[in-house]
Amino acid sequence: MAETCDILVSGGGVAGLTAAATFGAAGFKVICVDPTPPVTLRDADGSDLRTTAFLQPAQALLARFGLWDRLSDHAAPLQIMRIVDAGGEQPEPRVVKDFNAADISDKPFGWNLPNWLLRREILARIESLPNVEFRPGIGTKSLFTRTTAARVTLSDGAQIQAKLVVACDGRDSPMRQAAGIGVKTTRYGQKALAFAVTHPVPHDNVSTEIHRSGGPFTLVPLPDYQGKPSSALVWMERGPRADALQKMEVTAFEAEMTRRSCGLFGDLTLASRRSIWPIISQSAERMDGQRLALMAEAAHVVPPIGAQGLNMSLGDLRVLLELAEARPEGLGDAQMLSAYHKARHNEILLRVKGIDLLNRSSMIEARPLRDLRAMGLNALYSLAPVRRTLMQMGLGVK
Ligand SMILES: Cc1cc2nc3c(=O)[nH]c(=O)nc-3n(C[C@H](O)[C@H](O)[C@H](O)COP(=O)(O)OP(=O)(O)OC[C@H]3O[C@@H](n4cnc5c(N)ncnc54)[C@H](O)[C@@H]3O)c2cc1C
Repeated sequence: MAETCDILVSGGGVAGLTAAATFGAAGFKVICVDPTPPVTLRDADGSDLRTTAFLQPAQALLARFGLWDRLSDHAAPLQIMRIVDAGGEQPEPRVVKDFNAADISDKPFGWNLPNWLLRREILARIESLPNVEFRPGIGTKSLFTRTTAARVTLSDGAQIQAKLVVACDGRDSPMRQAAGIGVKTTRYGQKALAFAVTHPVPHDNVSTEIHRSGGPFTLVPLPDYQGKPSSALVWMERGPRADALQKMEVTAFEAEMTRRSCGLFGDLTLASRRSIWPIISQSAERMDGQRLALMAEAAHVVPPIGAQGLNMSLGDLRVLLELAEARPEGLGDAQMLSAYHKARHNEILLRVKGIDLLNRSSMIEARPLRDLRAMGLNALYSLAPVRRTLMQMGLGVK
């Protein structure tokens, strides 16, 4: 006999755990499974050292479902997004432009939080919800659907019958593959190093993205670490250079990153392990299958530029929730899922394309093209309405 639930969430990464907690808080009976138990300590092996800048719409969703209260004390606000072009002869700033959240809103653009801490706090919220069950160490194995329900077999042999399966099981999503939904993938031959640093110059809640070649070098504010100003750093480079940087002896690495940061924050000190991530763009051909919704990296992967990845995922979740709450009796039916596909797919394709272009422009090696990039930044910035529209688009409110 299969167990039953309203929603089976396949995957307990940040997106899957958030989906489980949010659907649970909305009153649905949820089971969430993940073969890899979450690591909830910063310095433990396998901890996720990436951070997520939750933009305004994502923060509103977390607040509505009782997650923000647990997170706000650990979050660093992002008031200004600073873009620096350092594509000249030497690694030094030649164009510096500030996008200030005050131009479009009375709130910051977003709030930055470490992913390992997100897992800890969202899990604690899930434990407080009697209608949500998280099963770490267990994965989804196969998917069988009819018009009325989905039946999923788990790696421990258990069978779950759900009205809706939400696939949050990552870029190689087993549930997406089981449903035969294809993807379009772009590989850049690029990797991102993600780690934490401390620095003598305070960040003043400014997120700084420095472009030279190989990809962006981005410092995003974190609360102070061991009494010193601290930032999360994402450093994108061509694969072999990123591998060499990851293995480099610490003093030499610190000298390299201080040089790449143009010295804007003084001498940078490494304050965590260096984690490394291959960079791709990917979008699924559809957002839905029978009784199945694809969400987060199962549906779309983008290079880490402009804090878009998880924020797009929470955009998926917002739409799924609205549809589920508007017509709970239709949870997971064809009408709900085709409305979900329609609401999200084009928006996602546009964002994936836009971020692809930004990434390619940041990777440029040739000097004349780098000069053109600096001119483009100047031109876009100098038109106030364009500047404001770009900021609203970045937030996902336009
Ligand atoms: C360097 C870097 C920096 C980033 N910075 C930001 C940022 O500032 N802001 C932002 O919005 N986004 C950012 N992103 C993107 C963001 O981190 C990702 O979108 C997000 O973490 C991915 O979440 P996910 O839950 O979809 O995927 P994952 O974290 O990959 O989770 C997928 C889960 O599915 C599980 N799984 C696999 N197989 C199965 C199975 N058979 N059954 C069940 N579960 C399974 C896996 O174990 C895993 O836990 C960044 C990305 C990178 C690489």
